Amino acid sequence: MLSDHIAQIAKAQIYASEPQRFKMITQDSFVMTGHHHDHTIRRNGCGWKCSCAYFRSTEPIYHACAHIIALEWIFGSQTGVVADPTATLE
Ligand SMILES: [Zn+2]
Repeated sequence: MLSDHIAQIAKAQIYASEPQRFKMITQDSFVMTGHHHDHTIRRNGCGWKCSCAYFRSTEPIYHACAHIIALEWIFGSQTGVVADPTATLE
């Protein structure tokens, strides 16, 4: 739902203000320390996937969670990270 996606963007703004939560493992792999769990964010082809429950449950049209959105804001200029809204789960 759109309201869920907007909530994710609001969360992403908080995470983006706390970049220490994100640890780059490789150019294509990050670990993010969330409020309750750590999340693994990996690049697959041209899209990103996150291990969080929201990402797994979200509709493909909104295929980004707060963690991926914040990651792009923080590291986008370094990694060339670009969200791929057409990415699908395997
Ligand atoms: Zn996530």
